[in-house]
Amino acid sequence: MSLAAPPSSVDVAVIGAGAAGIAAARALAGTGLSTVVLEARDRIGGRAHTIVRDGHALDMGCGWLHSADENPLARLAEGAGFTLDRTRPPWESQAFNHEMSAGEQAEFRAAFAAFEDRVAEAAARGEEGPASILFEPGNRWNPRIDAISGALNGARFAEVSIRDYDAYRDTGVNWRVAEGYGRLVERLGAGVPLVTDCAVSRVDRSGPVLRLETAKGGVEARALILTLPTDLIAAEAVRFDPPLPDLMEAAASLPLGLASKLHMTVTGAEDFPKDSQLWGRADTADTAGYHLRPFGRPMIEARFGGDIARQLEADGEAAFFAFASDELVHLLGSDMRRRIAPVAASMWGADPWSRGAYSHALPGHAGDRARLKAPVERRIFIAGEATSEVFYGTAHGAWLEGGRAAQEVLTALEGAGPA
Ligand SMILES: Cc1cc2nc3c(=O)[nH]c(=O)nc-3n(C[C@H](O)[C@H](O)[C@H](O)COP(=O)(O)OP(=O)(O)OC[C@H]3O[C@@H](n4cnc5c(N)ncnc54)[C@H](O)[C@@H]3O)c2cc1C
Repeated sequence: MSLAAPPSSVDVAVIGAGAAGIAAARALAGTGLSTVVLEARDRIGGRAHTIVRDGHALDMGCGWLHSADENPLARLAEGAGFTLDRTRPPWESQAFNHEMSAGEQAEFRAAFAAFEDRVAEAAARGEEGPASILFEPGNRWNPRIDAISGALNGARFAEVSIRDYDAYRDTGVNWRVAEGYGRLVERLGAGVPLVTDCAVSRVDRSGPVLRLETAKGGVEARALILTLPTDLIAAEAVRFDPPLPDLMEAAASLPLGLASKLHMTVTGAEDFPKDSQLWGRADTADTAGYHLRPFGRPMIEARFGGDIARQLEADGEAAFFAFASDELVHLLGSDMRRRIAPVAASMWGADPWSRGAYSHALPGHAGDRARLKAPVERRIFIAGEATSEVFYGTAHGAWLEGGRAAQEVLTALEGAGPA
């Protein structure tokens, strides 16, 4: 339910209409508390965003229902009539064995599993630090392990906390939404009262009522749920008066890494196995993963993470395609250059309303997810992927956290009755 302008006064203002904000607003619907979601962009969904090209739904942000057997969005997708695709994910089936032989792939898998075991053992002993200290010195697969970190964390393992990485929960079940994950989140937000093009710039918390300044006028609220990406919280994109240094510090220690996607068409697609994957190179983290024929389409989805994503974003959208072309030509032959064409590349780092892809805890800061979500004065509540201690970096983590924050608001305002 899109409103042209926010009401001047509500019980609960939710800042941001991504998965967390939408989940929060849905949980507050029907409770008797008046709610409005204030969204800076001209669309909802945040980092869940599907575009449609040539009839194909292309996810620019989240695409996978990770831990799908426990993921509340999988149930909601089915309930809303979306199609769940249960094809095995491409990272389980390497195509062609070009950049690594079958034997090398087995060697790499063993090296990665051994690394993850060392992380789990170190975390169990209570150790903390950069996960990269658990690399085996001189192991030839360390750069490739860092390439995986680019995909998982949007940053190298040197920037990732051992304990935070270990805390992530993954049931290993991964499904997709054929119509697009972004579209699903958008559909789930269709009924909530929200205002788009309505960036919040300031919250005056000096009085008994919170006073929000937005692009479409002032809003008074008894409570608010803040769902901004951590880099925006840390940069004071919403300025609190008086300031909240603890919140900003916690957000700064959970920065967003960068993961980027490039969707391409490919001619003669039948030459490639459906829903399989290959990587550009085995000897460096500065490479891309290529998902061949997602959903069986005549397309390739390239994925860039960490340093290479940042470098290519800085060079501009066309740089993703130039890089991917070179890698695919090197792997699959020179005719790839005329067979592929760019469709769309994400630019989440340059986007003023995200500034990155998803959060990782800096070494020494695993505990800061709990610190980030600590309520302020029982009236300012924080939610988003970054406040999830086990499903961080995901849409379902954000969704569950939005629901959690809504329950906290209900408890805090309980008994006081609507304003
Ligand atoms: C390339 C990429 C691939 C991904 N792949 C997956 C995947 O396969 N599976 C998965 O589960 N997750 C994936 N994710 C992560 C997932 O998309 C996010 O974790 C999740 O969508 C975050 O939801 P959120 O509500 O926490 O934040 P957001 O979606 O960022 O929502 C925050 C909202 O706040 C708004 N906002 C910002 N500033 C203001 C302001 N001042 N005033 C008002 N509104 C403001 C923003 O516009 C945004 O709509 C991926 C992300 C990226 C970028």
